[in-house]
Amino acid sequence: MAAAGAWEPVIGLEIHVQLKTRTKMFCRCASGYGVGGGENTQTCPVCLGFPGALPVPNRQAIDWTIKLGLALDCEIASRAVFSRKNYFYPDLSKGYQISQYDLPFCRNGTMIVPTEHGDHRVGIVRAHLEEDAAKTVHVGGARGRIGGAEISLVDFNRGGTPLVEIVTAPDIGSSDEAKRFLQLLRQTIVELGISDAEMEKGTLRVDANVSIRPKGSTELRTRCELKNMNSFSYVARGIDAEVARQIGVWESGKELRQETFDFDGASGTLTPRRSKEEADDYRYFPEPDLVPIEPSAELIARLRAELPELPATRIRRVEQALDLEQSMVLVSGGLDRLWEATVAAGAGGKAAANVIANNLVGARVDPSAVSPGELAALISARDRIPRQAFDQAIGKLAEPGFSAAPYLADEAVSDEALLEPIVDAILAANAAQVEAYRGGKTGLLGFFVGQVMKETGGKANARAVNDLVTKKLAG
Ligand code: ADP
Ligand code: MG
Ligand code: ZN
Repeated sequence: MAAAGAWEPVIGLEIHVQLKTRTKMFCRCASGYGVGGGENTQTCPVCLGFPGALPVPNRQAIDWTIKLGLALDCEIASRAVFSRKNYFYPDLSKGYQISQYDLPFCRNGTMIVPTEHGDHRVGIVRAHLEEDAAKTVHVGGARGRIGGAEISLVDFNRGGTPLVEIVTAPDIGSSDEAKRFLQLLRQTIVELGISDAEMEKGTLRVDANVSIRPKGSTELRTRCELKNMNSFSYVARGIDAEVARQIGVWESGKELRQETFDFDGASGTLTPRRSKEEADDYRYFPEPDLVPIEPSAELIARLRAELPELPATRIRRVEQALDLEQSMVLVSGGLDRLWEATVAAGAGGKAAANVIANNLVGARVDPSAVSPGELAALISARDRIPRQAFDQAIGKLAEPGFSAAPYLADEAVSDEALLEPIVDAILAANAAQVEAYRGGKTGLLGFFVGQVMKETGGKANARAVNDLVTKKLAG
């Protein structure tokens, strides 16, 4: 078997984000995000690539790209250039994609990702703006893939929609770290309001470049690329599968070949796509129909001032109080601000994290509509009020003017002085069961507790009743 301990993964990610601008990147057609009207209705001479049609850049998309770049601590170009990336494919009617090459908007950024062994810096090589290709739909083949398809159709509605491509340095050291990086990046994008960034819908797409090296070395070996993973868990699983495969190749004394794979998350299989031994030659050159863009210092300052405190920063604070996994659930779910305010209002850190991550999410409560003070009051009383009342209160937390007080008034009776006469009466009325219990049928405990709960109309604290009944039966 492969000695996984002797190797370490090296991972770099390429991420595409579809911006949620109202219109496309270089024309006024409505952009993506479930535009109605059916296939090929949101098109014009520009996004269909008619000769002579002139592109006009989308201001909003440029501002958002710069904003994302600032959030990733990038240097913003004082002069950015759109370039043509030439290739042929049926979903690219112009024969080239307008992208960026040597002068992208954003470069040399960083995102700090927490790991079990402390914070880890992941370099952002670049973030650039480009237009998306149209969508090819393969009909009649397996799983919508081109192989075996009877016909392929093209929908140009997606053609020309704005995409930001983010490229990381090969700085990521495990599949878990890759997943955490992606979760924090996604939450950042969502909080900036520039994209819904949903992998299942294709508004966030991730390609993972994977190689391995002897643990502790700094060399970069041949890498392979994984595509078509449509959830963060599949990305992590795909990386694990590819790392295991590469360990097998190197340890059998063979040379690893650079390849691209589709990872099928459901079956866990890697299917080779095409070998990529030579770099593609796209013949990039500056787009002659667009002038270079020179973002002003004022614009950059304004966008920087608009940045909220970011997930990657917040998690380092949350992590002081909670474990990494719990911190990730809160921060990547946009729940940590409510958690922090609830703790400040007096709730315990772990209890608040549990209730917010499980009960609130389970009940689909909008965290932004919750009063931290009321939530803290509920959490602090959690063990003393009936479960039912607690759940009911959670479900209503986001209602306007919600108050925890009526539910707290329902506080369960755990006072022994109040419970004792009831317990005594129940035991006296069930002498045969008491005898059976003392004779070894300890499973009857639940019966007695149930009788007491019934007698109190469910107001008794079950744990207190349990303790008291156990004590009485023993004595
Ligand atoms: P290309 O020009 O072929 O696209 P890049 O240098 O732009 O290659 O890198 C593309 C992606 O591959 C980046 O995310 C980078 O971090 C990653 N990468 C490059 N070399 C390696 C390697 N040896 N192992 C893992 N990932 C790598
Ligand atoms: Mg590349
Ligand atoms: Zn158009």
